[in-house]
Amino acid sequence: MTNVFFPKQEAKIKNEYDVIVIGASAAGLSAALYAARNKKNTLVIEKNGGPGGQISTTWIVEDYPGIKSITGQELSNAFAEHAKIFGAEILYGTEVFNVNFSEKYVETKGLVNKRFFYKKLIIATGSVHKKLGIKGENEFIGKGVSYCAVCDGPFFTNKDIVVVGGGNSALDEALYLANNFARSVTIVHRRDKFRADKILQERVFNHKKIKIMFNTELKEIKGRETVESIVLFNNKTNETFEMKTDGVFIFIGLNPATEIFNVEKDENGYIITDEKMRTNVKDVFAAGDCRKNQLKQIITAAAEGAIAGYYASRELDEQ
Ligand SMILES: Cc1cc2nc3c(=O)[nH]c(=O)nc-3n(C[C@H](O)[C@H](O)[C@H](O)COP(=O)(O)OP(=O)(O)OC[C@H]3O[C@@H](n4cnc5c(N)ncnc54)[C@H](O)[C@@H]3O)c2cc1C
Repeated sequence: MTNVFFPKQEAKIKNEYDVIVIGASAAGLSAALYAARNKKNTLVIEKNGGPGGQISTTWIVEDYPGIKSITGQELSNAFAEHAKIFGAEILYGTEVFNVNFSEKYVETKGLVNKRFFYKKLIIATGSVHKKLGIKGENEFIGKGVSYCAVCDGPFFTNKDIVVVGGGNSALDEALYLANNFARSVTIVHRRDKFRADKILQERVFNHKKIKIMFNTELKEIKGRETVESIVLFNNKTNETFEMKTDGVFIFIGLNPATEIFNVEKDENGYIITDEKMRTNVKDVFAAGDCRKNQLKQIITAAAEGAIAGYYASRELDEQ
């Protein structure tokens, strides 16, 4: 772990880097790999104590090409080690809380409180799934509670599962799970109608494997090793009841971690870039789940990180 900095090693940290990457997960570490391999002084700043962001919360990843099955933690470590082979430095436990685009620096707090100047900045801060905040939710993440149907669907083949939410992603994912894996899918929605597109609603209503519970709120997730049942509350009849289930997929939205970046974003806060991952601010790139894109997966985040790292390096060569 030679290039991982903790407080005592702060003296080794430079004040200025060719490329600074914020976020040490699929997008950020791929960006760092490409920049460092192009011989750019590269620093990755990560607020968590280790690499991987959302990946590190994933139990098993089995849809990354070339790797049949790997734990999220192992894949995260492999990404970090690979970037370090080419000289990228990774600073953990340190959060970027301010960015000054005109003077080209980022300010950090946590293990290292400092200003770092950049020539190119790559934002790879990802996004965070909104949580219900109910009892059992955190406890059973990866043990029956999931926020990603593409990722975890295969683990629920022939199982009875519940999907929480009423928007496009909830209905889309419910259909995906019902068509491909689950024996039955029950959609639990706290309102009396969905806000998803009509076409999705039609498909859900007509699907033989899908049941719908309107006016119903999920209150608690229960089990021993894995999820076994849930406690529901009908907000019309005020009735509380328990239901057996093998899994709970929660799709109530995502929050991109982009608040501190004053760049162009869409209405949901996702950063808008061109195809080289450049934002509307000079020398600032964005990649991965924090960006306005289609498929929020490790492979797409890694690919976008590669593009950002490559073009940031190329622009430096051309300057
Ligand atoms: C439970 C779960 C299971 C999943 N399973 C799969 C799967 O099987 N296959 C798959 O392809 N995808 C899966 N995904 C999706 C995948 O993990 C994400 O698409 C991918 O991690 C996105 O990578 P990223 O680098 O863009 O962002 P993230 O992984 O979100 O990482 C962003 C990083 O930036 C850091 N950060 C944020 N703000 C700051 C700041 N201000 N300062 C410093 N650091 C900051 C965060 O701490 C984090 O480490 C899963 C997601 C979840 C939640």
